[in-house]
Amino acid sequence: MAGQDQLIEQAKGIMQIPAQIRNICTSAHIHHGKTALTDNLIAGAGLMSAKAAGSLEEGMVTWQHADEQERLLTVDAANVSMVHVFEGKEYVINLIDTPGHVDFGGDVTRAMRAVDGTMVLVCGVEGIMPQTETVVRQAIRERVKPVLFINKVDRLILELKLTPEKMQERFITLINEFNTLLENTAEEQYKQSWKVSVTDGSVVFGSARENWALSIPYMKRNGVTFKDIINIYNTMEGEEREKALLQKANLYEVVLDMVIKHLPAPHDAQKYRIPKIWHGEIDSEFGKSLLSCDPKGKLGFVITKITIDPVTGGEISAGRLFSGTIQKGMEVFLNNAKQKTRIQNVYFYQSVKRVQVESIPAGNIVAISGISAYAGETVSEVQEHPFEEMVHIFEPVITKAIEAKRSADLPKLVEVLRKVAKEDPSIKVQIDEETGENLISGMGELHLEIIENRIVTEKGLEVKTSNPIVVYRETVTRLSQEVEGKSPNKHNKFYFTVEPLPEEIYKLMKSGDIPEGRFKKRDDNVIQSLVKLGWDTKEANKVKEVYKGNMFVDNTRGVVHIGEVIDLILDGVDQVLEGGPLAREPCVKLLIKLHDTKLHEDSIHRGPAQVLPAVRDGLREAMLNALSVIYEPVQILRLEAPVDFMGELSKLVANKRGQLINMVQEGNMVIVEAKLPVAEMIGMSSTLRSATEGRGTFYVVDQSFEKLPSELQPKVTQQIRQRKGLSENA
Ligand code: GDP
Repeated sequence: MAGQDQLIEQAKGIMQIPAQIRNICTSAHIHHGKTALTDNLIAGAGLMSAKAAGSLEEGMVTWQHADEQERLLTVDAANVSMVHVFEGKEYVINLIDTPGHVDFGGDVTRAMRAVDGTMVLVCGVEGIMPQTETVVRQAIRERVKPVLFINKVDRLILELKLTPEKMQERFITLINEFNTLLENTAEEQYKQSWKVSVTDGSVVFGSARENWALSIPYMKRNGVTFKDIINIYNTMEGEEREKALLQKANLYEVVLDMVIKHLPAPHDAQKYRIPKIWHGEIDSEFGKSLLSCDPKGKLGFVITKITIDPVTGGEISAGRLFSGTIQKGMEVFLNNAKQKTRIQNVYFYQSVKRVQVESIPAGNIVAISGISAYAGETVSEVQEHPFEEMVHIFEPVITKAIEAKRSADLPKLVEVLRKVAKEDPSIKVQIDEETGENLISGMGELHLEIIENRIVTEKGLEVKTSNPIVVYRETVTRLSQEVEGKSPNKHNKFYFTVEPLPEEIYKLMKSGDIPEGRFKKRDDNVIQSLVKLGWDTKEANKVKEVYKGNMFVDNTRGVVHIGEVIDLILDGVDQVLEGGPLAREPCVKLLIKLHDTKLHEDSIHRGPAQVLPAVRDGLREAMLNALSVIYEPVQILRLEAPVDFMGELSKLVANKRGQLINMVQEGNMVIVEAKLPVAEMIGMSSTLRSATEGRGTFYVVDQSFEKLPSELQPKVTQQIRQRKGLSENA
């Protein structure tokens, strides 16, 4: 198609000029209209017939997996690029469509690393929802600037029959709420400057599905009013309405104008994003290249998504090129895997198609083939300091054992599981080649069901899975006494205390202000964050490790050989953090302090066989002394069903140790928000189905860990210990 080729050539030209590039993603609460928006934008770009956009029957192009069509969910982030002319200049907009379901929250986090701006869609009827807050938090953590799209305005007109005045009132309330959310989440320097405003056009209102949008600057420029839109709705239907709306309020133009005007170009964004997401030497050559998004500088590419090419079965790694120029056939270094490798092909995205090119310069979203890596990998020419790990907001809470139906398929299963884990890093796969047991963990039963289904349909492998197991956490409730851990040879001693980690520190870990890792040298991010909380610099400097929501402080003084054993000590600490004293479940929110150590003079007598057990025993005992407890995962669910089933829904929540948060009636539907322990949610889909004659649905809005009720503590601890074959008592 000549048109396609022309667009590709045009895009290739613009991709050379950072000022004319925008890398963005959409983000929203589930069902607020991201898929509809993406499809209409692509349609607007002339890459898809407008008719196909928004209609499921004719296939939505952002839906890559068959199971998503069935479930009406966009599970994977697809990459798309579009060309748009603004004030006489051509721009390339690279758009990543992110999923709107919490079970797959990991995809959102990774998409945020690749982009500099995000369009937050909020449904004008429902307003800001808990997941809107989650995605805004995720954006802010990566220093990704937001703009606002108030969607489903057609419903305000047709269903709620709002006058233009009432509509404006509603918009103002929503915008104020959105700005309050920004003010509460953003770092100091962005609290004001990132606020959205109707007058400058950083807010648009419209209907993603019906393909129209307006902003105040656009309305002024073109003499369009809300009344005009209401008139169109009241007097026209079908194709005539569609055409009139397109002419008065062109979604593609209004939205992309906003993106270009209010979201930053890569070279501008990288100046402030790099110091937050990359903690190497800013003055090094690599650091300078990254900061300035220099196409002639050192190569700096971060992989944010792995897909498997359906034709070749090979891995395609997509991500953000922060600096340098990526070339076909180039030899590169993978900094997490610590491996040299060679890039085979280089691609950019056009619609959901990958277009092969010789090279692409810094500032773009690109894909490469020929390498085998995990999402989050930093690709450079020689070894460099890698980018910060991408922290996922939610962790896996449900595990199943998975096996091949035919034992001959076992090697294939191992291979398929590895691939599945790469495609969706929010699932965790543990492959035990000795016992032959393979475990797969995800963020909910639905999440695991989708993965299982994908293994069967796409990878063509018949599998069996066990009943799901809930993943708990262990933590402590008070400050312990100082506890001694002694090595088997009795020559090495470690003195620990453990206490609950203050909530504000935990929050900074979750927001990425306090990064995960071991700190050999001063880490300015850790120190500055703690100093802000009132720590003095000297104390903050003693933080030697942050691991999975826990902090380790080395309070020892004048221990001669500490430098030689600190890594071993931390290895022992990590082992306990992976498996606590009560039931060997992962630990969270611990503040561990090492106060003193006695070490054997001779290094032979203070090796791993001595230090590891001493640290493990000491720390586990300190935890028990600090009154260890089990925390269980809980999820906030939104349940929907026809009003007749209101009683059934509340009964279901009550029967499952649930807590009703809110119940509202919308039309003839009842919407219930409730908090339920994950342990009680096993088989939830079928319970809900039978309680509502198949007419109820639910989805996860938020997730956290809460203390398991005291009366259940001993029982659950015993059950886990038994399952793991541990002795009866901790
Ligand atoms: P996503 O989950 O954010 O990707 O949302 P979708 O784009 O899949 O939309 C969810 C539902 O809302 C679908 O049934 C859409 O047809 C509908 N929808 C999306 N945008 C609009 C809109 O502007 N107006 C109306 N009335 N419905 C919309």
